[in-house]
Amino acid sequence: MLAADEMGERNVLKNLVGKLFGKAKADPPSDGFFLKVRCSECGERFNLYINKSYELMQNFESDGQVTYALKKMVYGVGCSNRIHVSMKFDGQKNPVSKEIENGEYIDE
Ligand SMILES: [Zn+2]
Repeated sequence: MLAADEMGERNVLKNLVGKLFGKAKADPPSDGFFLKVRCSECGERFNLYINKSYELMQNFESDGQVTYALKKMVYGVGCSNRIHVSMKFDGQKNPVSKEIENGEYIDE
């Protein structure tokens, strides 16, 4: 696990590289994160790996910028509750906002 300030430096560097080289470089397949949510109905926890290269939807904004969004439905076996996850990302695929229905995000 990296220290918080080390992570910050890496993100800054990543943003800088993204701005300099634009879309020339494809994202590596390992570019992803873990989505941790809990069902508000039964308390079941889900730990899903989201691959940013395949699972994010591209949005073309009116000002010409490209942003990304993730929409996912999560549910367990034997539970009627459906958790709706909705996240938004900037042009570098860094998360900028997240919403959830019928469940909650777990931060650990
Ligand atoms: Zn449940």
